[in-house]
Amino acid sequence: MTQPSSGAPTKADAFVVGCIDPRLVDDLTVLMDAVGRTDRYAEFRIAGAALAAVDSNRPAWGQALWENLAASRQLHGVRKVVFVNHRDCGAMDLFAGRRLSLDPADELRQHQAVLDQAAAAVLARHPDMQVELRLMELDGRSTLLPCTACAGRMPLRAEAVPAPGFADLLRLRLRDGPLSPEAERALLVEGVTRHGLTAEEARAALAAAATAQGQATSAVAAREVAAYLRSRADARGRVAQTDVARASALYRRLAGNLPPAEAERRAALLLEAEGLSPRPAGLWRSTAWFQRLLKAPAPRPA
Ligand SMILES: [Zn+2]
Repeated sequence: MTQPSSGAPTKADAFVVGCIDPRLVDDLTVLMDAVGRTDRYAEFRIAGAALAAVDSNRPAWGQALWENLAASRQLHGVRKVVFVNHRDCGAMDLFAGRRLSLDPADELRQHQAVLDQAAAAVLARHPDMQVELRLMELDGRSTLLPCTACAGRMPLRAEAVPAPGFADLLRLRLRDGPLSPEAERALLVEGVTRHGLTAEEARAALAAAATAQGQATSAVAAREVAAYLRSRADARGRVAQTDVARASALYRRLAGNLPPAEAERRAALLLEAEGLSPRPAGLWRSTAWFQRLLKAPAPRPA
Protein backbone atom coordinates (compact mmCIF):
# COMPACT_ATOMS: atom_id res chain seq x y z
CA MET A 1 0.00 0.00 0.00
CA THR A 2 2.63 2.53 -1.00
CA GLN A 3 1.32 6.03 -1.54
CA PRO A 4 2.49 8.37 -4.28
CA SER A 5 3.96 11.68 -3.18
CA SER A 6 0.68 13.44 -3.96
CA GLY A 7 -0.88 11.61 -1.02
CA ALA A 8 -3.58 10.13 -3.26
CA PRO A 9 -4.12 6.38 -2.72
CA THR A 10 -2.49 4.10 -5.27
CA LYS A 11 -5.00 2.78 -7.80
CA ALA A 12 -5.34 -0.92 -8.49
CA ASP A 13 -7.80 -2.67 -10.76
CA ALA A 14 -7.74 -6.12 -9.23
CA PHE A 15 -7.85 -7.70 -5.78
CA VAL A 16 -5.90 -10.94 -6.05
CA VAL A 17 -6.53 -13.70 -3.53
CA GLY A 18 -3.80 -16.35 -3.32
CA CYS A 19 -2.78 -19.11 -0.91
CA ILE A 20 0.00 -18.84 1.67
CA ASP A 21 1.77 -21.91 0.22
CA PRO A 22 5.51 -21.07 0.22
CA ARG A 23 6.05 -22.98 -3.04
CA LEU A 24 3.99 -20.49 -5.01
CA VAL A 25 4.93 -17.13 -3.49
CA ASP A 26 6.81 -15.83 -6.54
CA ASP A 27 4.63 -17.68 -9.06
CA LEU A 28 1.67 -15.47 -8.26
CA THR A 29 3.81 -12.39 -8.89
CA VAL A 30 5.07 -13.86 -12.17
CA LEU A 31 1.50 -14.63 -13.22
CA MET A 32 0.32 -11.07 -12.52
CA ASP A 33 3.32 -9.70 -14.44
CA ALA A 34 2.57 -12.02 -17.35
CA VAL A 35 -1.01 -10.82 -17.63
CA GLY A 36 0.14 -7.20 -17.54
CA ARG A 37 -1.01 -6.34 -14.02
CA THR A 38 2.37 -5.35 -12.56
CA ASP A 39 1.79 -2.79 -9.77
CA ARG A 40 -1.92 -2.71 -10.60
CA TYR A 41 -3.29 -5.20 -8.10
CA ALA A 42 -3.78 -5.56 -4.37
CA GLU A 43 -2.76 -8.93 -2.96
CA PHE A 44 -4.42 -10.91 -0.18
CA ARG A 45 -2.88 -14.19 0.95
CA ILE A 46 -4.83 -16.66 3.01
CA ALA A 47 -4.66 -20.46 3.35
CA GLY A 48 -6.74 -22.07 0.59
CA ALA A 49 -7.29 -18.74 -1.27
CA ALA A 50 -10.96 -18.86 -2.42
CA LEU A 51 -11.65 -21.40 0.34
CA ALA A 52 -11.59 -18.54 2.86
CA ALA A 53 -14.74 -17.13 1.25
CA VAL A 54 -16.51 -20.48 1.51
CA ASP A 55 -15.39 -22.45 4.59
CA SER A 56 -18.10 -21.97 7.24
CA ASN A 57 -15.83 -23.65 9.80
CA ARG A 58 -13.59 -20.58 9.73
CA PRO A 59 -15.92 -17.57 9.63
CA ALA A 60 -13.14 -15.20 10.78
CA TRP A 61 -11.19 -15.98 7.60
CA GLY A 62 -14.11 -15.02 5.41
CA GLN A 63 -14.69 -11.89 7.42
CA ALA A 64 -11.04 -10.87 7.02
CA LEU A 65 -11.32 -11.42 3.27
CA TRP A 66 -14.50 -9.36 2.87
CA GLU A 67 -13.20 -6.52 5.03
CA ASN A 68 -9.94 -6.38 3.11
CA LEU A 69 -11.78 -6.44 -0.21
CA ALA A 70 -14.02 -3.58 0.92
CA ALA A 71 -10.97 -1.63 2.11
CA SER A 72 -9.17 -2.18 -1.19
CA ARG A 73 -12.24 -1.10 -3.13
CA GLN A 74 -12.38 2.09 -1.11
CA LEU A 75 -8.62 2.78 -1.08
CA HIS A 76 -7.54 1.52 -4.50
CA GLY A 77 -10.78 1.39 -6.48
CA VAL A 78 -10.56 -2.32 -7.30
CA ARG A 79 -13.44 -3.64 -9.40
CA LYS A 80 -12.27 -7.17 -10.02
CA VAL A 81 -11.43 -10.13 -7.78
CA VAL A 82 -8.99 -12.77 -9.01
CA PHE A 83 -9.01 -16.01 -7.03
CA VAL A 84 -5.91 -18.14 -7.59
CA ASN A 85 -6.30 -21.57 -6.01
CA HIS A 86 -3.60 -24.16 -6.48
CA ARG A 87 -3.08 -27.91 -6.73
CA ASP A 88 -1.85 -29.97 -3.78
CA CYS A 89 -3.23 -27.36 -1.38
CA GLY A 90 -3.07 -28.41 2.28
CA ALA A 91 -6.01 -26.20 3.25
CA MET A 92 -8.19 -27.73 0.53
CA ASP A 93 -7.19 -31.23 1.72
CA LEU A 94 -8.26 -30.39 5.27
CA PHE A 95 -11.55 -29.01 3.96
CA ALA A 96 -12.26 -32.05 1.76
CA GLY A 97 -11.00 -34.53 4.34
CA ARG A 98 -8.71 -36.30 1.85
CA ARG A 99 -5.56 -35.89 -0.19
CA LEU A 100 -7.07 -34.31 -3.30
CA SER A 101 -3.93 -34.47 -5.43
CA LEU A 102 -4.24 -38.28 -5.55
CA ASP A 103 -7.05 -37.79 -8.08
CA PRO A 104 -6.32 -34.73 -10.24
CA ALA A 105 -9.73 -34.80 -11.95
CA ASP A 106 -11.56 -34.85 -8.61
CA GLU A 107 -9.16 -32.18 -7.33
CA LEU A 108 -10.13 -29.93 -10.24
CA ARG A 109 -13.85 -30.47 -9.52
CA GLN A 110 -13.41 -29.58 -5.83
CA HIS A 111 -11.54 -26.40 -6.70
CA GLN A 112 -14.09 -25.45 -9.33
CA ALA A 113 -16.91 -25.85 -6.77
CA VAL A 114 -15.12 -23.75 -4.14
CA LEU A 115 -14.16 -21.10 -6.70
CA ASP A 116 -17.74 -20.89 -7.99
CA GLN A 117 -19.08 -20.41 -4.46
CA ALA A 118 -16.45 -17.77 -3.77
CA ALA A 119 -17.39 -15.93 -6.98
CA ALA A 120 -21.07 -15.99 -6.02
CA ALA A 121 -20.18 -14.63 -2.57
CA VAL A 122 -18.21 -11.74 -4.13
CA LEU A 123 -21.08 -10.88 -6.49
CA ALA A 124 -23.58 -11.00 -3.63
CA ARG A 125 -21.57 -8.30 -1.86
CA HIS A 126 -20.34 -6.38 -4.92
CA PRO A 127 -22.74 -6.96 -7.84
CA ASP A 128 -20.78 -4.55 -10.05
CA MET A 129 -17.50 -6.43 -9.72
CA GLN A 130 -15.91 -8.92 -12.09
CA VAL A 131 -14.50 -12.22 -10.90
CA GLU A 132 -11.72 -14.30 -12.42
CA LEU A 133 -11.06 -17.88 -11.32
CA ARG A 134 -7.75 -19.66 -11.71
CA LEU A 135 -6.15 -22.93 -10.69
CA MET A 136 -2.36 -22.96 -10.50
CA GLU A 137 -0.12 -25.98 -11.00
CA LEU A 138 2.87 -26.42 -8.70
CA ASP A 139 5.19 -25.28 -11.52
CA GLY A 140 3.40 -21.91 -11.64
CA ARG A 141 1.33 -22.48 -14.77
CA SER A 142 -2.28 -21.55 -14.23
CA THR A 143 -5.56 -22.28 -15.94
CA LEU A 144 -8.44 -19.86 -16.24
CA LEU A 145 -11.55 -21.69 -15.04
CA PRO A 146 -15.14 -20.93 -16.04
CA CYS A 147 -17.14 -18.83 -13.60
CA THR A 148 -20.68 -20.20 -13.28
CA ALA A 149 -21.78 -17.39 -10.98
CA CYS A 150 -20.57 -14.81 -13.51
CA ALA A 151 -22.59 -16.33 -16.38
CA GLY A 152 -25.33 -14.12 -17.74
CA ARG A 153 -23.74 -11.01 -16.35
CA MET A 154 -21.97 -8.33 -18.40
CA PRO A 155 -19.23 -9.98 -20.45
CA LEU A 156 -15.72 -9.23 -19.25
CA ARG A 157 -14.35 -6.07 -20.76
CA ALA A 158 -11.81 -6.86 -23.44
CA GLU A 159 -8.44 -6.21 -21.84
CA ALA A 160 -4.99 -6.18 -23.38
CA VAL A 161 -4.37 -9.39 -21.47
CA PRO A 162 -2.98 -12.42 -23.25
CA ALA A 163 -4.81 -15.73 -23.18
CA PRO A 164 -3.36 -17.63 -20.21
CA GLY A 165 -1.89 -20.39 -22.34
CA PHE A 166 -0.05 -17.86 -24.47
CA ALA A 167 1.29 -16.00 -21.44
CA ASP A 168 2.68 -19.26 -20.06
CA LEU A 169 4.24 -20.07 -23.41
CA LEU A 170 5.91 -16.65 -23.57
CA ARG A 171 7.25 -16.96 -20.04
CA LEU A 172 8.73 -20.34 -20.86
CA ARG A 173 10.38 -19.20 -24.09
CA LEU A 174 11.81 -16.04 -22.50
CA ARG A 175 13.23 -17.85 -19.49
CA ASP A 176 16.63 -18.43 -21.09
CA GLY A 177 17.05 -14.89 -22.35
CA PRO A 178 15.93 -12.67 -25.19
CA LEU A 179 14.62 -14.24 -28.37
CA SER A 180 15.91 -13.78 -31.87
CA PRO A 181 13.60 -11.68 -34.08
CA GLU A 182 12.77 -14.87 -35.99
CA ALA A 183 11.72 -16.67 -32.80
CA GLU A 184 9.62 -13.66 -31.77
CA ARG A 185 7.85 -13.68 -35.12
CA ALA A 186 7.10 -17.40 -34.81
CA LEU A 187 5.64 -16.81 -31.34
CA LEU A 188 3.45 -13.95 -32.56
CA VAL A 189 2.13 -16.16 -35.36
CA GLU A 190 1.36 -18.85 -32.79
CA GLY A 191 -0.48 -16.31 -30.61
CA VAL A 192 -2.70 -15.39 -33.54
CA THR A 193 -3.29 -18.80 -35.09
CA ARG A 194 -3.49 -21.00 -31.99
CA HIS A 195 -4.56 -18.64 -29.19
CA GLY A 196 -7.07 -16.49 -31.04
CA LEU A 197 -5.32 -13.18 -30.35
CA THR A 198 -5.14 -10.24 -32.72
CA ALA A 199 -1.63 -9.38 -33.92
CA GLU A 200 -1.73 -6.31 -31.70
CA GLU A 201 -2.71 -8.35 -28.62
CA ALA A 202 0.01 -10.89 -29.31
CA ARG A 203 2.62 -8.13 -29.62
CA ALA A 204 1.39 -6.48 -26.38
CA ALA A 205 1.54 -9.85 -24.60
CA LEU A 206 5.10 -10.44 -25.80
CA ALA A 207 6.18 -6.95 -24.71
CA ALA A 208 4.58 -7.44 -21.27
CA ALA A 209 6.22 -10.85 -20.82
CA ALA A 210 9.62 -9.52 -21.89
CA THR A 211 9.33 -6.51 -19.58
CA ALA A 212 8.39 -8.84 -16.71
CA GLN A 213 11.76 -10.54 -17.20
CA GLY A 214 13.69 -7.30 -17.49
CA GLN A 215 14.09 -7.62 -21.27
CA ALA A 216 13.06 -5.49 -24.20
CA THR A 217 11.51 -7.21 -27.17
CA SER A 218 13.75 -7.07 -30.21
CA ALA A 219 11.25 -4.63 -31.77
CA VAL A 220 11.70 -2.12 -28.94
CA ALA A 221 15.47 -2.62 -28.81
CA ALA A 222 15.76 -2.31 -32.57
CA ARG A 223 13.80 0.94 -32.64
CA GLU A 224 16.06 2.53 -30.02
CA VAL A 225 19.26 1.29 -31.66
CA ALA A 226 18.15 2.45 -35.13
CA ALA A 227 17.41 5.91 -33.72
CA TYR A 228 20.86 6.01 -32.14
CA LEU A 229 22.56 4.99 -35.41
CA ARG A 230 20.65 7.66 -37.34
CA SER A 231 21.72 10.29 -34.81
CA ARG A 232 25.40 9.32 -35.24
CA ALA A 233 25.45 9.26 -39.06
CA ASP A 234 27.42 11.96 -40.86
CA ALA A 235 26.03 14.09 -43.70
CA ARG A 236 26.65 11.23 -46.16
CA GLY A 237 24.80 8.70 -43.99
CA ARG A 238 27.98 7.00 -42.78
CA VAL A 239 28.44 5.71 -39.25
CA ALA A 240 31.84 5.27 -37.63
CA GLN A 241 33.07 1.96 -36.18
CA THR A 242 33.08 3.32 -32.60
CA ASP A 243 29.44 4.38 -32.93
CA VAL A 244 28.41 0.96 -34.24
CA ALA A 245 30.21 -0.55 -31.24
CA ARG A 246 28.23 1.79 -28.97
CA ALA A 247 25.03 0.82 -30.78
CA SER A 248 25.64 -2.87 -30.15
CA ALA A 249 26.38 -2.14 -26.48
CA LEU A 250 23.05 -0.30 -26.36
CA TYR A 251 21.39 -3.30 -27.98
CA ARG A 252 22.83 -5.61 -25.33
CA ARG A 253 21.67 -3.37 -22.51
CA LEU A 254 18.12 -3.22 -23.90
CA ALA A 255 17.82 -6.87 -24.83
CA GLY A 256 19.32 -8.40 -21.69
CA ASN A 257 22.09 -10.99 -21.98
CA LEU A 258 22.39 -11.04 -25.76
CA PRO A 259 25.83 -12.43 -26.75
CA PRO A 260 28.15 -9.56 -27.85
CA ALA A 261 28.67 -11.00 -31.35
CA GLU A 262 24.93 -11.28 -31.90
CA ALA A 263 24.36 -7.71 -30.69
CA GLU A 264 27.03 -6.50 -33.13
CA ARG A 265 25.45 -8.44 -35.98
CA ARG A 266 22.02 -7.00 -35.23
CA ALA A 267 23.38 -3.46 -34.96
CA ALA A 268 25.10 -3.92 -38.35
CA LEU A 269 21.90 -5.27 -39.94
CA LEU A 270 19.96 -2.33 -38.53
CA LEU A 271 22.47 0.09 -39.97
CA GLU A 272 21.88 -1.40 -43.42
CA ALA A 273 18.11 -1.50 -42.93
CA GLU A 274 18.19 2.22 -42.09
CA GLY A 275 19.87 2.90 -45.45
CA LEU A 276 23.08 3.98 -43.72
CA SER A 277 26.59 2.77 -44.49
CA PRO A 278 29.76 2.05 -42.53
CA ARG A 279 32.46 4.75 -42.54
CA PRO A 280 35.74 3.36 -43.94
CA ALA A 281 38.49 3.11 -41.34
CA GLY A 282 42.18 2.26 -41.04
CA LEU A 283 45.15 2.71 -43.31
CA TRP A 284 43.34 1.20 -46.28
CA ARG A 285 40.10 3.14 -45.73
CA SER A 286 38.27 -0.13 -45.58
CA THR A 287 34.86 -1.27 -44.33
CA ALA A 288 36.13 -4.80 -43.61
CA TRP A 289 35.38 -4.12 -39.92
CA PHE A 290 31.74 -3.88 -40.83
CA GLN A 291 31.67 -7.05 -42.95
CA ARG A 292 33.13 -8.93 -39.97
CA LEU A 293 30.22 -7.81 -37.80
CA LEU A 294 27.68 -9.07 -40.30
CA LYS A 295 29.32 -12.50 -40.29
CA ALA A 296 29.06 -12.92 -36.50
CA PRO A 297 27.64 -16.33 -35.65
CA ALA A 298 23.89 -16.57 -35.29
CA PRO A 299 22.55 -17.07 -31.75
CA ARG A 300 21.46 -20.43 -30.37
CA PRO A 301 18.39 -21.78 -32.16
CA ALA A 302 15.17 -20.62 -30.51
ZN1 LIG B 1 -2.68 -23.81 -0.46
